[in-house]
Amino acid sequence: MLKSCLQCGNQFEITNEDKDFYQMMDVPEPTRCYFCRMIRRISYRNEHHLYHRKCDFSGKNIISAFSPDKTFPVYDIDVWWSDKWDPLSFGREFDFGKPFFDQFFELRGQVPRLALQQQKPMVNSDYCHCASRNRNCYLVFSSNRCEDCYHGTWINESKNCVDNLNLLKCELCYECVGCRECYNSMFCLDSVNCRDSFFLRNCMGCSNCFGCSNLHQKSYMLFNEQKPKDEFEEFIAEFNTKSFAAVRSMLEKMGAKLSGITVKENHAVNAHGCFGDYLRNCKNAYYCFECDDAEDIRYCMCIETANNCADYSYWGRNAERIYECQACGNDVFNLRFCNICWDGCRDLTYCDHCFSSENCFGCIGLKKNKYCILNKQYSKDEYSELAARIIEHMKKHNEFGEFFPMNKSNFAYNESLAIEHMPLSREQAGKLGLSWKDDIDEKPKVEKIIPAELLPDSIDDIPDDILNWAIECEATKRPFRIVKQELEFYRRMKLPIPHFHPDERHRRRMALRNPRRLWKRPCMKCGKEMETTYAPDRQEIVYCERCYLAEVY
Ligand SMILES: [Zn+2]
Ligand SMILES: [Zn+2]
Repeated sequence: MLKSCLQCGNQFEITNEDKDFYQMMDVPEPTRCYFCRMIRRISYRNEHHLYHRKCDFSGKNIISAFSPDKTFPVYDIDVWWSDKWDPLSFGREFDFGKPFFDQFFELRGQVPRLALQQQKPMVNSDYCHCASRNRNCYLVFSSNRCEDCYHGTWINESKNCVDNLNLLKCELCYECVGCRECYNSMFCLDSVNCRDSFFLRNCMGCSNCFGCSNLHQKSYMLFNEQKPKDEFEEFIAEFNTKSFAAVRSMLEKMGAKLSGITVKENHAVNAHGCFGDYLRNCKNAYYCFECDDAEDIRYCMCIETANNCADYSYWGRNAERIYECQACGNDVFNLRFCNICWDGCRDLTYCDHCFSSENCFGCIGLKKNKYCILNKQYSKDEYSELAARIIEHMKKHNEFGEFFPMNKSNFAYNESLAIEHMPLSREQAGKLGLSWKDDIDEKPKVEKIIPAELLPDSIDDIPDDILNWAIECEATKRPFRIVKQELEFYRRMKLPIPHFHPDERHRRRMALRNPRRLWKRPCMKCGKEMETTYAPDRQEIVYCERCYLAEVY
């Protein structure tokens, strides 16, 4: 059945499988298309912006994803998890004379929020958010079990990596995107088990290769040509990785070569009956992106180990029956319309920042609670009866079945992840009633600032004093700093220091990852119709899986 999206007006389909899922979850059909639903959810996620502020309980200086101007209280992680405050003290009666969301947001304005989403143990990693079990990491987001990593998103179990996106089990990698089990490699894309290499794309099991694509188990390949070892080494020495100008011109050269590269229609690995992209070990994933080890999932993104879920973005790890949720995970079951609910949560509806709780509705900031509505305690029977009545009440106000509205997000649109997937200007956001934050950067506490283009070209000529300077981004003019450990990494790896603000570096890496959208286009070899994340205007030669395998292997 085709429906018209209430947000963007585009037609979207509700399949029979969708209907079965909505029935199982006891929710009405969605009124918005997949993309608008996804944007609405991730407008509740601030992944990259951290601020200095005070803990509203202790007055202590802390780092938080919530800027100091937020009107609700924010508590330091240790205080938040302690018994020093009681979320039920904010509890209130449900008022059938008012819409649910009005009452929910009134409550949300008063309940303390957790400064950062971190799961312990975290060692010396204060500037990490949406993260767990990291050691000596700095500005690392949506990343777990990493050590000595700086500036990275969605990196797991990696060591000594700087400026990367989507890594698993990598070491000494720099500016890599979508790589697994790589070692000492720079500027590599979608490559697995490669080492001592530069500028690779779709390579597997390679070592000492430079500027290559679609290679398997090769060494000493230069721009896809076999070279004698000494000739290859001579090239590397001459290339001079220490020079920003040399690296930049090579990046430009590699960009210009894109039109000659053959790629597979998607990036799936061991995916059966799936439709989407970047799926690994998945079965029956429909319109899903960036998911691992999942089964029977629909319209999901960035989740792992999940089954029977739909419209679910971020996290997972043993999640079942989750619908329209954001940042929920770790043994969660039957959650509907929830934001940031973890650790054994079950049977929650419209909850935010609740942990290890069961059978709650419209609650915020609960820890190990049961049978609560708007943070007020009920008996089991009272709870069931009242929750059912509230759902009927919400249906009358067209509220039930919708995730929290975008204009009620805790974050400004440009602070949230939504802007990465649907870029809007300040004016466009304003027209949609979305807030905007102008002072997204804190002023660096330094007296000296240097435009990036005036930095010495080679890392050899960068003095230690650079740590006392702010660098002005070449592209955005936003000031940024580098920390001592980063400088040590660049020196050790013989790499120049970056000229761009970390957000700009992240944006450029994101551009190397295909968008979470599908386009119909024919295979450029056999003409078979495909649905792919490669937009029709992309420069690469896009083949269906069969033609790609025949060509490359
Ligand atoms: Zn839409
Ligand atoms: Zn084909």
